[in-house]
Amino acid sequence: MDRRVVYLDNNGTTRMADEVISFMHENDDLYGNASSMHTLGREAAAGIEWARNEVASLIDAEPEGIYFTSGASESNNTVLNIFRDVADRGDKRSRIVTTEIEHPATIETVRYLRKKGYRIDLCPVDSIGRIKLDELEALVDDDTALVSVMTGNNESGTIQPVKEAAAIAHKHGAYFHTDATQAIGKIPVSVKDIGADYLSLSAHKFYGPKGIGVLYAKPSVPLSPFVHGGHQEKGMRAGTYNNQAILGLGKAAELARENLEEEHRKLWQMRTALRKGIEERIPDVIFNGSDDESLCLPGTLNVSFPRAEGESILLYLDFEGIEVSTGSACATGSLEPSYVLLASGLDVELAHGSVRFSFGRYNTMDDVEYVLEKLPPIIEKVRSMSTRRV
Ligand SMILES: *Cc1c(COP(=O)(O)O)cnc(C)c1O
Repeated sequence: MDRRVVYLDNNGTTRMADEVISFMHENDDLYGNASSMHTLGREAAAGIEWARNEVASLIDAEPEGIYFTSGASESNNTVLNIFRDVADRGDKRSRIVTTEIEHPATIETVRYLRKKGYRIDLCPVDSIGRIKLDELEALVDDDTALVSVMTGNNESGTIQPVKEAAAIAHKHGAYFHTDATQAIGKIPVSVKDIGADYLSLSAHKFYGPKGIGVLYAKPSVPLSPFVHGGHQEKGMRAGTYNNQAILGLGKAAELARENLEEEHRKLWQMRTALRKGIEERIPDVIFNGSDDESLCLPGTLNVSFPRAEGESILLYLDFEGIEVSTGSACATGSLEPSYVLLASGLDVELAHGSVRFSFGRYNTMDDVEYVLEKLPPIIEKVRSMSTRRV
């Protein structure tokens, strides 16, 4: 008998869409080196330009601003490195302001740069995990070179006021970057509407292949090479193009644009049904983030179960075929609670007892029913075993 798998870790990564897989197969003859002048090379280059245009229209950007990378980690690192170069030039305007809830690809880079002596400040968030705009306003000054605020958070699902944050950055003459990796395909994202000078995204978070992403950089903003070498990507990122992955990203972008409204509706419906079911069936739970449709990524539900450990819940759910995530980083054997939840004021014990359910296009209402059948006895069992005192 096949094991039933209910995959609810779509914020971690998604399964490739069937349309993306077939499209990549159909185009497996586009293997030429896109830098070559022969026909196969030119055909590959044309495919890559098609994908560039698809990504550009998904985020309402100029195709010239789209740079292919290996994913959002590289894109986030690159933006911070560009401004490290700005600081190295001795520019007075060299401070970076970002937030306490960014993805590790930003937070860890910030940690590294701070150790090297660069000036970086983190904006705090409120109890739903939304940045405090008055605090941002107070942090950004005329020495600030870059402000970076993610569009939607991967753990809490909270949507950030990026348009307002961009306006604060611009008022002080700073550039604005947003890590839109979690928002793409779930809510409309327009670099023009936000006023974003830079944006990061990654294909595997919206049904495309892994290892391919984009850094959008508005034409005329500061740039320095991401990878030195060949002339690819206008000399900014050297290396032979990964044709197949780029085509897959292009197809995923096309699907995301076409299905955005339907996708949003479906995800919100499943997430809300799960929230309601948990509320009815399990006593004493705390929902993290916001329950307002305009402030929450539609497929994300983050829940804290007092007197229960997230990792135990995760393992028991996994045993039933339900794949979820906790915000903890399992580093060197010690489980650190989610810094994102701690930043919004959740206490350490509750952060330890939190679980993230994240829906995707291949989930159904049947999956919600299945979770609601399996979860309550698991919580009861984990709570009865718990030695923690909360
Ligand atoms: C997944 C994720 C990243 C990292 O993307 P990769 O493609 O895995 O490098 C960055 N930011 C956010 C918000 C993410 O969810």
